[in-house]
Amino acid sequence: MSHSPAIGVLALQGAFEIHAKRLAELGATTTLVRKPGQLGALDALVIPGGESTTFLKHLEHAGFYDALDAFVHAKPVFGTCAGCILLAKEVTNPPQRSFGVLDIDVERNAYGRQNDSAILTSETSLPGGPLEMVFIRAPRITRVGPSVEILATRDGNPTLIRQGRLLAATFHPELTEDTRVHQLFLNIVREVSSSL
Ligand code: GLN
Repeated sequence: MSHSPAIGVLALQGAFEIHAKRLAELGATTTLVRKPGQLGALDALVIPGGESTTFLKHLEHAGFYDALDAFVHAKPVFGTCAGCILLAKEVTNPPQRSFGVLDIDVERNAYGRQNDSAILTSETSLPGGPLEMVFIRAPRITRVGPSVEILATRDGNPTLIRQGRLLAATFHPELTEDTRVHQLFLNIVREVSSSL
């Protein structure tokens, strides 16, 4: 595509500012999304980390849940941590509503109190060597469907996955200097846009 992609970052709550900064540094035009009416102008969306229950509460207003549901079923979306939870097919600990577009099951707050925040470096299939991952009260992906590609893991559990135009991480890639994960999302957005 000739213009830089217009990428929204859902800005109802949580870690949205740094995502927008990272994407802008990589050449995207970013918009902080606070109203459902903003979604129509976007090529793609990031749903950041935060608290998925609080996101759901905010989304109950003004038809936002339904507008976002339609968006995540049609366009490239990158969900990190709480965002990954919102995209999953099934959520446990406790069960809660989700868009169900990503063929994975997740367990919220899965690492227990002692390990609930951690910085780990692990192998990844992304070019460029091991990936540093910042986990904050992270979920665990407990099942992946056949169309899901696993790009990084933590103790054998997937932490970075791709399903076609959808990307999800159980960690916070915006909190490290490594831009490979955001770059991958931009590449996905460009691929999708150029195939339209
Ligand atoms: N524990 C949060 C939840 O269950 C996710 C944490 C995060 O996004 N860093 O929604």
